[in-house]
Amino acid sequence: MVKEKLSANIPSLKSWVEVSENSDFPIQNLPFGVFSTKTKSKRVGVAIGNQILDLANLYELGYLSSLSFCEHCFNNEFLNRMMGHGKIEIRELRNRISELLNISNDELYKDKKHLKLVLDLQSSATMHLPIKIGDYTDFYSSEQHAFNVGSMFRDPNNALLPNWKHIPVAYHGRSSSIIPSGEDVIRPKGQQKQDESENPIFGASKLLDFELEMGFITFEGKPLGEQIFTEEADDFIFGMCLFNDWSARDIQKWEYVPLGPFLAKNFASSMSCWIVTLDALEPFRTSGPVQNPKVLPYLEYKNDKHLNIDLSVSIKIPNGEEKVVTESNYKHMYWNMNQQLAHHSVNGCNINCGDLLASGTISGPQKGSFGSMLEISWRGTQPVSMPDGSERKFINDGDTVIFRGAATNGSYKVGFGELVSKVLPAK
Ligand code: CA
Repeated sequence: MVKEKLSANIPSLKSWVEVSENSDFPIQNLPFGVFSTKTKSKRVGVAIGNQILDLANLYELGYLSSLSFCEHCFNNEFLNRMMGHGKIEIRELRNRISELLNISNDELYKDKKHLKLVLDLQSSATMHLPIKIGDYTDFYSSEQHAFNVGSMFRDPNNALLPNWKHIPVAYHGRSSSIIPSGEDVIRPKGQQKQDESENPIFGASKLLDFELEMGFITFEGKPLGEQIFTEEADDFIFGMCLFNDWSARDIQKWEYVPLGPFLAKNFASSMSCWIVTLDALEPFRTSGPVQNPKVLPYLEYKNDKHLNIDLSVSIKIPNGEEKVVTESNYKHMYWNMNQQLAHHSVNGCNINCGDLLASGTISGPQKGSFGSMLEISWRGTQPVSMPDGSERKFINDGDTVIFRGAATNGSYKVGFGELVSKVLPAK
């Protein structure tokens, strides 16, 4: 296990960069992303308050010379090269950044010329897809979500399939269509079949849905043939993002038998642009549900491996107000990341630097905390009323879907920024 101190997590730390009380990005967070400005090409940055610390310039000015990173780690359109240094060195980097931003350290602060070069307002920067994503895997790890879907489409008395409490169920998704916050989503077209019709029709999906998920990004794993154990899984996880795994329910219903999700899923998935390190989330560990029946030994784990992260989804209608349609929490997962990674690699499947593993829809235990419109509107039978008097069963053209997420304790908040996606009409 990685032993370097998490000195960047000390609650009493304060930065000389002004950070408002409700900011997602206090000095205890320091998430990594890729940004550009009018004068700067894509590069690695760290969010602090409403600003971005430019790591490419910070490196060039010599502030990171005590570490083993090179210029290309930060002057890069993706985080992967930096992540290639692994858990220990990324922790050292985050600790060093924390030191430089600390209110009691004037090493960087005293040089006003340098400050101009290394700080950019988030409002004048463009955020980009931060990771060159290799493989994308989507789990199905929220019991309430699996129960809701099983109840709607099969039988409330046998909602969970027999394997569900033994296997963190998942499928391999597609990484080419993973897009960053801010990029529009085009309504997909495809085959759909009504129950009463004999043959399918072709057209734009009428039942476009979001899925409230979180994703985690991996460091380099182990060679093909070797497994990652639950107790070491943390060392292979770089950080997390908010993840909207868009789904076309009508296309899904017709196509998913027998091999599972395909075109109903792979037209787009949206991710938030700041990757919050697992290190920054350590203070928010919490216990998971009691797993009954007992899991097989390779899925057993010790200590608290769940995370208490509040999540919400809003829909903003064109020229209208936002409406919060659900409030959930990442702690509602039945299977945690350590179990997911252990399961994913138990057959020897290798994990690479920059893989993305998503949680599956995160539904809380009661109405008001469900993670998709399918569940919120209960298959369209209970529409949601919007501020302008209209109703939503699923997502309309022109709607903007906004995910937010943050972990809070008495001292500070570690947030993810917003994941914002507007839906455009089918082409
Ligand atoms: Ca999903």
